[in-house]
Amino acid sequence: MASLYRMDLSQLKGVGAKTAELFSKLGLQSVGALLRFYPRDYENWSELTPIAAAPYGEVSIVRGEVVVPVETTRLSGGRILCKTVVTDGETDLVLTFFNNKYIPNQLRVGKNYLFRGKIGGTFFHREMVAPQIMREGAEIPIRPVYPQTEGLRSSTIARAVEQALALLPDPLEDPIPEKIRRQYSLCDLRSALFMIHAPKNIDEIEKARRRLVFEELLCLQLGIAQLGSENKVKSNYRIRSAQEDFYRLLPFAPTGAQRRCVAEMIEDMQSGSAMNRLLQGDVGSGKTAVAAALCYCVAKSGYQSALMAPTEILAQQHYASLTKTLEGSGVRAALLTGSVKGKARRELLASLDAGEIDLLIGTHALLTEDVAFKNLALVITDEQHRFGVTQRLRLQEKGEHPHTLIMSATPIPRTLALMIYGDLALSVLDEMPPGRQTIATYAVGSDKRERAFAYLRKHIDEGYQCYIICPLIEEGESDMASVEEYEALLRESPAFSGVRIGALHGRMKNDEKNAVMTAFSRGEIDLLVSTTVVEVGVDVPNAVIILIENAERYGLSQLHQLRGRVGRGKAKSTCILITDAQNEETAARMKIMCQTNNGFTIAEEDLRLRGPGNFFGNEQHGLPKLKIADLKTNMETLSDVQNCARAILEKDPALALYEHRMLRSEIRLLFTKVGGYGIS
Ligand code: ADP
Ligand code: MG
Repeated sequence: MASLYRMDLSQLKGVGAKTAELFSKLGLQSVGALLRFYPRDYENWSELTPIAAAPYGEVSIVRGEVVVPVETTRLSGGRILCKTVVTDGETDLVLTFFNNKYIPNQLRVGKNYLFRGKIGGTFFHREMVAPQIMREGAEIPIRPVYPQTEGLRSSTIARAVEQALALLPDPLEDPIPEKIRRQYSLCDLRSALFMIHAPKNIDEIEKARRRLVFEELLCLQLGIAQLGSENKVKSNYRIRSAQEDFYRLLPFAPTGAQRRCVAEMIEDMQSGSAMNRLLQGDVGSGKTAVAAALCYCVAKSGYQSALMAPTEILAQQHYASLTKTLEGSGVRAALLTGSVKGKARRELLASLDAGEIDLLIGTHALLTEDVAFKNLALVITDEQHRFGVTQRLRLQEKGEHPHTLIMSATPIPRTLALMIYGDLALSVLDEMPPGRQTIATYAVGSDKRERAFAYLRKHIDEGYQCYIICPLIEEGESDMASVEEYEALLRESPAFSGVRIGALHGRMKNDEKNAVMTAFSRGEIDLLVSTTVVEVGVDVPNAVIILIENAERYGLSQLHQLRGRVGRGKAKSTCILITDAQNEETAARMKIMCQTNNGFTIAEEDLRLRGPGNFFGNEQHGLPKLKIADLKTNMETLSDVQNCARAILEKDPALALYEHRMLRSEIRLLFTKVGGYGIS
């Protein structure tokens, strides 16, 4: 295989410079890479549907005998239209082709062909427009369909792949050692490549896929583990245990779990190697206080720390609450976001560089090139699932092997956490601050909306605040429209006359957003209408009800996050989920939300219901781009892969053995695509 990675694509017949150029747009430069470019789907020409049974509007493959000669009509503009009729003995099907002058020669009366296309037509006749045609009895019943780019057709790719397959050495060296293949019943790489590109039947596709998915996940898992061991670098920043002094600054006593987590991390930061850790805690479990305790200790040890939040609102909130807590402690905090500009920014950067700032809180703005620290010893990213692996590493690069902590907003099931954060040590905040009540949760139909509004109104009159998460709109539309429309409706609604309503959406400028959020947290807004921009982290203890429209459109973890905006103070809090969706899956999700407040339970259920792929949404996990495994893979495969990876690393932690050399090079290939940070 290694030699094929060095073989240029243009050496294949029919791949000229132009085609090679198109291939390279797909990221394919070598024959080896082409072989690792798997079909997106298959057309199964052996699965025929009787014409009468082919579902309207869907693609089917039918068999038909041509019953009338092809009729050709010239249309205006020189276009030609061909029409004919075929039958499968029971039902007739009209075929229409545009601008294909070969059709009359290709389709002969009395002969049978297979046609693949979308069924249309009227009640009186069924029709296919421009179907694909295959001679009956043609060899390949299952055709691969490749992801395409402009100008490069799936069939062109298929022809190139066919040649590439012929170049495969026999036997072919396999990255997965034979012993492991036997243990997990995986086929060898050579057969897998043949079967994925040119399957003889459906079973072969499954067999090949299983092996290739396993291989890819194994490389991912081993690669992440390698990252972890590489990150075990020496650290010069020894951090003092000063947390007890910090606790005295807090308006509350830390929970046992908070104390334990802080102690774990301080110990880690005293060990002489850099900490690399994930803090998991349910919504409201008090992760911020843990982060603050660490920053305090770092400052008291004479170093700087950085705390990065995913949104400006959150950064501001952290800044406000931390400066309050740290008042008089001698720890100097500063806020850097996109809206800090000009002179203020220059001055801030200068004092940061001079070491006059101990704790820098901010957004992505912290990653900007000219942000330089004097001695950055700790980097914390809050609500990490919004950041990718690459960003994580970029902030780290601002210091010399600083300690790092990632705080995840949503609990992540253990298996997945291992897959994605396998390189990190784990601390879990498994205890809520005292006095937290469970948030009563109800799922109701939209017919109960008026009643729900009255319930909100009653609480607003008592001096509490509420959130409404407004209806979702079609993808691609701006959320602004939906918020503004909904807000207007609420303003007109008698249920909310005299109520101070504010609105928040993704299209607002940062300072507009901040102004609204600040007004809400000061109690100057009673009812906040918002999109999910309030989802993460925002903390307003006086808000006691959250009403979520179109609850069916959100995943469990997201609903749980949203719900976590209330129940942050002493008062009894409520979450109202409005949905008219009737399907089973929605019902199951709503039921779980109503039954439990435990984020870890919810995360497990979410994973079970939707599979790992949807758990994080697209690309949010920041993993290398996978070719075939999409984390929708079943949990069984995931845990097999994890066991296998563990066994390999136990035997050969550095993957230095001869039998693992192919595996190493596959891992390197996978990870160089994410910014090239190195596994060597
Ligand atoms: P999250 O883990 O979701 O980020 P926060 O750090 O925002 O949670 O904390 C939620 C709320 O709980 C905040 O208002 C915080 O001040 C409060 N809090 C944190 N720890 C404690 C504690 N030990 N006792 C009482 N309240 C606490
Ligand atoms: Mg938080």
